[in-house]
Amino acid sequence: MNRLWFARAVALFSVAGLVCSCSTAPSEDLHKETRVLLGTFVEVTVKAEKDKAKQAVRAVLDEMKRVEDLTSFHKPSELTRINALAGSGAVHADPELVALVNESLKFAERTDGAFDPTLGPLAKLWNFSGGGESRLPDDSEIQTALAKTGWRRVKTDTSAGTITLSEKGMSLDLGGIAKVYSLDRARMVLKKLGVRSALVNAGGDVAVVGEKSPGKPWRVGVQDPRNPRGLVAVAAITDGFIVTSGDYERFFLRDGKRYHHILNPETGYPATGLRSATIIAPTGVMADAISTAVFVLGVKRGLEYLKRTPGVEGFLIDDAGKMFFSPGAKDYLEVTSK
Ligand code: ADP
Ligand code: MG
Repeated sequence: MNRLWFARAVALFSVAGLVCSCSTAPSEDLHKETRVLLGTFVEVTVKAEKDKAKQAVRAVLDEMKRVEDLTSFHKPSELTRINALAGSGAVHADPELVALVNESLKFAERTDGAFDPTLGPLAKLWNFSGGGESRLPDDSEIQTALAKTGWRRVKTDTSAGTITLSEKGMSLDLGGIAKVYSLDRARMVLKKLGVRSALVNAGGDVAVVGEKSPGKPWRVGVQDPRNPRGLVAVAAITDGFIVTSGDYERFFLRDGKRYHHILNPETGYPATGLRSATIIAPTGVMADAISTAVFVLGVKRGLEYLKRTPGVEGFLIDDAGKMFFSPGAKDYLEVTSK
């Protein structure tokens, strides 16, 4: 984690902290812990009797660490092992990774490739999430990296337990779903332990178990993409996920232009048109993949996608700061700025 990214994560975290303090009145049975995981700050809040809450928080953090060890793109993981074997045929992989890659390919298909889990070669080039500085690559470098991408060139075989990357130099980057997949798992762990009320915040992406208190949903703030300490909306969430993809988390400015970490798989350059896409959905992987895809699709195609996807709502902010809502989004959202 480079210093700049660390500072950004702190800023994000403090907004999340502000959100949590407005959403959870101080109470003896609220137990909170924070850890740096999956490239961000993870804060777990569990409402339960003290010992049970402590045990649950620890179990959640351990589970999320396990997902990091499975999916990390930069640190050695099961994913980096598979990537290193690109071009050598079908490779045996952890069944959980095979399933996750399968899921990601499903979203690639459903979003016409706006979500593409094979952007590893481009991610390496731009280096938004690894250590060291991000950089603006030459166009020729981008074209060379683009030639090593394409979700149709990945095959999985669930019964054989293998993943095939068809060509040497290809690599999977699951950064668009791994963090919130870990929130899916966190929620599962909490439910298994009998926790009925909890919130897990991973750098602004949030999973919620149950209600905050009887009859009251958890309230989660949506960050203003141009003001790290401001909120544009507050969402009321019971048992579900709220996830945001934005151009303000990992970016650099060059000659007045913003370059950020969500890439258009067609061009290899950062997607344009939106500042943020916030998705409310019943599962984490779904929310995360769709938030990234909608960010790439832009306002018109993004809203069309949300309209035809049942159970999922979204809230987009375009590059002029204008807000757009899917048909049912306002049922969850209280907009705090115009
Ligand atoms: P964050 O993880 O920062 O909350 P996202 O969920 O939008 O934000 O994921 C962005 C990450 O997804 C990038 O850092 C990169 O690893 C990966 N990525 C970038 N562009 C795409 C894309 N078009 N499809 C799938 N994954 C992408
Ligand atoms: Mg995402």
